Amino acid sequence: MSDFVYISCPGVEGYDFSPSHPLRPERVLLSQQLAQMLEVLHDEDMVRVSPASPDLVAEVHSPRYVQVVRDLSEGKHVPGYYAFGFASGDNPPFRGMFEASLAVVGASVAAAQAVMDGVRVAVNLAGGLHHARYEEAAGFCIFNDPAVAIHVLKQKYRRVVYLDIDVHHGDGVQWLYYRDPQVLTISIHESGHFLFPGTGHPDEIGEAEGRGTSANIAFGRYTDDEVWWWAFQQVVPPLWRWFQPEVVVLQMGADPHYTDPLAHAALTTQGWLRAVQWVVEQGVPIVATGGGGYSLTAVPRMWTMALATLKGVSVPHEIPPQFPLHDEVKTLHDPQPPEVPERMRDAAKAFTEQSVQALRRHLQPYVRWDETT
Ligand SMILES: [Zn+2]
Repeated sequence: MSDFVYISCPGVEGYDFSPSHPLRPERVLLSQQLAQMLEVLHDEDMVRVSPASPDLVAEVHSPRYVQVVRDLSEGKHVPGYYAFGFASGDNPPFRGMFEASLAVVGASVAAAQAVMDGVRVAVNLAGGLHHARYEEAAGFCIFNDPAVAIHVLKQKYRRVVYLDIDVHHGDGVQWLYYRDPQVLTISIHESGHFLFPGTGHPDEIGEAEGRGTSANIAFGRYTDDEVWWWAFQQVVPPLWRWFQPEVVVLQMGADPHYTDPLAHAALTTQGWLRAVQWVVEQGVPIVATGGGGYSLTAVPRMWTMALATLKGVSVPHEIPPQFPLHDEVKTLHDPQPPEVPERMRDAAKAFTEQSVQALRRHLQPYVRWDETT
């Protein structure tokens, strides 16, 4: 059994709302191309897979919603379709979206299956569509592939961590497992006070039996590498030691980068990578997905660095001249961090510190922080 597999998702080109929509398939294709050019990915790492079955998806989403997606995808009129999240400009229905969405889920399920079969790390960069809800498309996400992967992993593992480093709150996955004590969801994101989807506050800690198994680090606007890593360290390692996960689903949204057009974080590629490195060091099997990330000059670099880190190989620093975006970016690392005015930096730090304190306070009755920190 190999140590690392890259699931090549056949639906990635088809998952395309419109040419002007920010979720471009090129995000994944350019990342794959750069990783191949730098010899991080080889043909023998890459596995092509089948789409997920609608029945499996309907174990996580409502069967009615799965049928609505199928009907809209075929161009049928569905009365009241707007109630399922397809009315907004974020998620316009498109022909073939059912098949494309099943393909994305199929790739994440294949990654979960590979890990269950003994692979150390399996990656689906086309996945990470974390906003999709039980019965609603949201934030460019139709089916929630990380949630379906977790559903599959639960057949084997009793304790699953979902760690989401996308700049947006991983709300869809959180709500789907909000009452489930077997799944600890941790999301580090720009606060919902400033950014879509408006949730992910420190007091969202799970419900019923799942109380204490949802954690939200909501950081301030213009949070940089240092503040982000400080917040991560305050929360993730102690929670990890307390929960003792047997497997992790890592959503690697690349939109905390300072050049991202849809958010206001100020991370560098190398600052963001520390979280991926930290997860690798924990030594539990990893199902890794892509996620957001809308700067085409940043995403391929970040995901190439992530793939190298997950695989445990070194990667050349220089971007090869034949890479299509070579003229705009020359190295994987950002040569220097963005310049954030001191006033904004201080505000980001103060906001994030308060938020971390609030999180610890809310989780205090459920998590044994004292024994673990
Ligand atoms: Zn995002």
